[in-house]
Amino acid sequence: MKINTETKYCQTCGIPLEIDYNNLGLEQNEEYCEYCLKNGVKLYDFSMDYLIYLWGLFPEEYYRETGINYTSEELREVMSKRLPHIKRWNRRSILPIYNTN
Ligand SMILES: [Zn+2]
Repeated sequence: MKINTETKYCQTCGIPLEIDYNNLGLEQNEEYCEYCLKNGVKLYDFSMDYLIYLWGLFPEEYYRETGINYTSEELREVMSKRLPHIKRWNRRSILPIYNTN
């Protein structure tokens, strides 16, 4: 059996997901972190830029979840590179941009 060890990120907030592929239960969600699932964050309607801004406010939250200690600036930098590859934001970015004059 092939074990996928590629790091996955929550498809809303971009936090790395710790997935135990050896014990992947039916109920385990591979797309969203617990926080986003619990709080319904995946349904929130905000922009990617706002999310990057939010991460910059809470680098200690990222540290608590991942053990990686970034400064606000570093975390914003990391997220601004990571989030465009994440489903939710990726999908939105390919929508045509309408001129709303
Ligand atoms: Zn999340």
